[in-house]
This record gives sequence, structure tokens and C-alpha cells, in this order.
Amino acid sequence: MQTDDHITALEAVRAKYRAERDKRIRPDGNHQYGYIGTGKFEDYGADPWTPEVEQRATVHDDVDLTILGGGFGGLVAGAFARKTGIDKIRFIDTAGDFGGTWYWNRYPGLACDVESYIYLPLLEEVGRMPSRKYVSGEEIRQHALAIVDHFELRRDALFQTKIETLHWNDDLERWTVTTSRGDEFNSRYVLVSGGVLQRPKLPNLPGVDDFAGHAFHTSRWDYDYTGGDHTGGLHKLVDKRVAIVGTGATALQVVPRLAEYAKELLVVQRTPSTVDVRADAETDPQWWESLEPGWQNERRKNFIDIVHGQGAEQNLVGDSWTDIGPARGMRRLIASGFTEDPAVSFEMADYEKMEELRRRVADTVEDGDTASRLQPWYMHMCKRPGFSDLYLDTFNKPHVNLVDTEGQGIERFTEKGFVANGVEHEVDLVIFATGYEVSFDPSTRAGVDIRGRRGVPLPEYWAEGMRTLHGWVTRGYPNLFHMGVLQNAHSVNYTHILEQQAAHIMTAVYEAELRGNVLVEPSEESENEWVSTIRAQGPAQDQFLAECTPGYYNSEGKPPRSETFAAGPNEFDQVLNAWLATGGLEQVMEPKSHA
Ligand code: NDP
Repeated sequence: MQTDDHITALEAVRAKYRAERDKRIRPDGNHQYGYIGTGKFEDYGADPWTPEVEQRATVHDDVDLTILGGGFGGLVAGAFARKTGIDKIRFIDTAGDFGGTWYWNRYPGLACDVESYIYLPLLEEVGRMPSRKYVSGEEIRQHALAIVDHFELRRDALFQTKIETLHWNDDLERWTVTTSRGDEFNSRYVLVSGGVLQRPKLPNLPGVDDFAGHAFHTSRWDYDYTGGDHTGGLHKLVDKRVAIVGTGATALQVVPRLAEYAKELLVVQRTPSTVDVRADAETDPQWWESLEPGWQNERRKNFIDIVHGQGAEQNLVGDSWTDIGPARGMRRLIASGFTEDPAVSFEMADYEKMEELRRRVADTVEDGDTASRLQPWYMHMCKRPGFSDLYLDTFNKPHVNLVDTEGQGIERFTEKGFVANGVEHEVDLVIFATGYEVSFDPSTRAGVDIRGRRGVPLPEYWAEGMRTLHGWVTRGYPNLFHMGVLQNAHSVNYTHILEQQAAHIMTAVYEAELRGNVLVEPSEESENEWVSTIRAQGPAQDQFLAECTPGYYNSEGKPPRSETFAAGPNEFDQVLNAWLATGGLEQVMEPKSHA
């Protein structure tokens, strides 16, 4: 029931959220950052996990499928391609091995922050039982390698290699691929799965290259400097003053591990994260054995229904993700018998949820001033929700100090440390937990020159905005498939959408292989229709994000036009299934000119 008190509380909190947002908006937006391996951060990019191979023999052959990216997107696509009967599959990645983000990120404390039973792809087929509800990053990486072995995906892979050009050869009706290592080969199909949060970013601040101490980004952890490994044991920090910059999902996992060893730890905060209950637990083998075939898909769909605020009769995952603002909003609306205005239900539920999270901080952190600075003031889904049963308590340790910059961030670096709130802090080590660039455009994000029929560059064809059918194919770029967040559904359980996309793409490839005389390319009409569908449904989402405190969810306060399918993966699945059932494949079977 909504009362006058509730309305007053909502008005007050709206004003507070807006004030907190306004003090963080900055004119330079995304330009405040630099990127690993470039400019001032040239030296931050080295691969800590695999020694650089100076030279290798170049390849000049023909393959059936080239996959850009050896992370989970590429791997599930490779797995489905194998099942489709595709033989010669060439993975290409700049990393030294498979794993994508789980290859690069090996920081202490790294773990799945979505339940592993729904996050880890192809669990049923690969036949592995995750050891915990939220397994470690290393266990996730091992799962990626298990997929590689299970589907024999390593054979033709090229690592420490970057695709430079992907050019469609109109005569051969194949893609010609060239790489940073001098390879040049032809490929019948190409799939681009370069990841969304793939390019680590750091604050491009004055003096950052004058700092004489040690520094690295969390995605390139330097265990030579810290000692220990992903399980902890950072014994070389016992005499070090350490600063960690950033308090997002990464920092929530790292901070408790650093605090175990550092002589002094400074946690530099610009905006506090929400920190909800984690409640990790070991997997019960009996429960695992009792699961029926198809359980993973069912669990994933149930999770999405709840997280997207669409309601569900039961809650299979039952964790804090399934209790986020929109999930609460739907529960409240149902409880009102749908008599309450949905906008009011969702805002009130969000307010109550955020109040609970603010109380959790106050109940855990003993120092009142530190606690109030750790309380988040924005709507729950303005930023990626955070989860930890360790992070907040860390601030009760005497050698851990919060450097709250009240939304302004670090001002500058010096030879000995950094300046925040006008005060210089001298440190031995700075760890940047400052996140990643978000890019949805596969050609620019992977840094690849993609040219389709008649040599037309993809950015030119997309000059007025992205153009795809269902996010995976583009007219004029036959047999080229995109994976990730494009004009398709997005999910916080990212591997869910990757598997959905891979299965769909490979259904079309299977059909094309059966027919033999076709290329997979959408008709002009089907592409136009989908682009219109997507463009017609963006504004509500954009408006919510525009009101949010800045961060990567809203491109630092200036959300670009939303191109994702707003209703989420479950409804998108229905769209794809209906499309298949009504002969949609005919729209992407383009006769070969040289058949
Ligand atoms: P985020 O982008 O979420 O966080 C970056 C942090 O750096 C923010 O707290 C930001 O503050 C802060 N920051 C940036 N510039 C400055 C500055 N100049 N001074 C002080 N602070 C600054 O990055 P994360 O790596 O934490 O997480 C990125 C995403 O990766 C997550 O949202 C999640 O999707 C994924 N992830 C998944 C995990 C998993 O599944 N295990 C674990 C970790 C991450 P502000 O908020 O003010 O911008």
C-alpha cells in the first residue's frame, strides 16, 4: 500500500539520487579514460600468463570457419559448429590461450558473480559439476578448457595473433583473413565474438606516468610483485602500502584478499557499489545427480523471468540477483493484485531494496562516517549490482582505509602516490580496478577492418547506425556472423545469450551446408524490418539510464541510443523460434553467384 509517507520518502530520495548523479556528471565522459596497451598505458598491456612467442610459421590455407575470440562466445559457437559437422575451425585470439575474460582476469578472489549452474555454458554436455554455487575464476577457466577438449577446438587455433582484415572476396565467395603475424588465408564462414567488456580502461590523469611505484590493472595481475596466486597468499605485500582505485564488482572481490596481506590498504572510491548477500555454498552432489536433462536451460529462463521483473511462479536460483529492484517491483505488483500503478510499484520496491542495502552497510561497518560514505544513492539497476559477504567487513580492519572522493575521483598522480580531496597519499602499489570500455560495434571494438561485397567497409554500411537481422547477420556481408550485444537480447547472465545466439547461427549454417549452393545473408526486407522493430522500442530504457549516476551502464551519463531487444532473452527466444517455424531461414539463404 502506498501512503503519504511513502510519497514523501520517494520525493526525498529522488532529489538525493539526482544530486548525487549531478555531482558525478563530467564533460569528458568516456574521454576521461585511457586504454591498456596504448599511450600512457602502453606498458600495462603485457600478457602475464604466456610468454610471447617471437616468431611462428605463417598460415596460408583454407578453413571452414574462422572464429575471432576464444572466450565463451567463440567456444559455444565452436561447439555448436562441431555439432553441425563443420570440420576446420580456426580460432584466433590475441591472448595466449582460450578463456577470454577468464584468461586475462586471474586476480585473487575472482569468482563467478552469477550462479555458476546457469553461467557455465554447456554443463550438461561437457558433464562437469561446478564445485560451488559461485565457482572461482580458475574453475571457470578450466571449464572453458574442458569445452575446448570436449569439442576438439584447439587443432587450428592461432594465439597471440590479431585479425587485421576480413575482406569478402566476391570471386571466391570466401572471406580472406589477414593477421598481425603475416597469416593470410580463406575462410568460408567467419564469426566475430570479441567480447563486450574487453578493453581494460584506466583514468587518464595528470602525472599517471610520473608515479615511481608499481601499478597494474586487475586484468593483468602481477603476482611477481604481490606474491601468491589466485587463491591468495599475497605475502610480498606485508610491507607495502597499497591503493586500489575503483569499487565495482572487481574491487568487491579483490579488496578482502588484499586486506589479508597489505601493510596498509587504501580503497579509493568515487561511487559506492551496492553490496548484497552472496551466500556461497558447496554444490550438493545429490542435488546435482537429481537434475533432469534440460535443467540448465529451464533454470536460466527462470532466472531471466525474475531478474527482468517479469515474474515467475518459482525461483530456482533463489539468490540476491533474483531479489534486485525490478524483481522486487514485480513481486510488489503481484501482491497488489495488479491494482497499483506499475511505475509506483517498481519505484517503491527499488527504494525499499536500496534502503535495505544501505542498512546492511550501517549494520556491518563499525565506523559511522565510513559506513555512510559506503552507502549507495541511486536506483538499483543504475549500476551493476554487487555481492559480497566479505567486502564491507574489511573496512573494520584498522589498516584498511576508505579514501572517499565524493564522486570526484583521484585528482592526479605524483611521483610518490596520488592526490584525492587535495591530500597526497604516498603508496608503493596502485591497482586499477577501473573496468573496461563497452563497445557494441563488432568492427570497431575488435579493431578489425571488415569489408563486405564490393569492398564496402562495415562502418560505412553502418554509418547511420547498426543494421542486422536479429543481431547476427548483415546484408552485404555474407557468411559473417556477429555475437555479443548487438540488435538482440542482453542478459546479466551473459553466457545465456551467447549460447542462444550460437545455437541460432549454427541452425542457419546447418541449413546452408545442406543446400550447398547458398550463402547466409539476410534479405534487404528482413533486415529493414528488424532494424525498425529495434529502433521502435528503445526510448523507455534510454530514459531510465539517462537519469542514472554515471558509469559504464549509461556510457558515463550519456546513454547512446539503445539497440538491444528490450523484452529480454526469453521473449527474444520466442521471436527466433517463431521466425524459424514460419520459414524465416528462407530470408537468409542467398543463392551463390558462382554455384
Ligand atoms: P566497473 O566499471 O564496474 O568499476 C570501475 C570502478 O572504477 C568504479 O567504481 C569507478 O567509479 C572507478 N573509477 C573510475 N575512474 C576513477 C577515478 N578516476 N578515480 C576513482 N575511481 C574511479 O569495473 P569492474 O572491473 O569492477 O567491473 C566491470 C564489469 O565486469 C562488472 O560490472 C561485471 O559485469 C564484470 N565483472 C564480472 C565479474 C564476475 O562475474 N566474476 C567480476 C568482476 C567484474 P564510478 O562508479 O564513479 O565510475
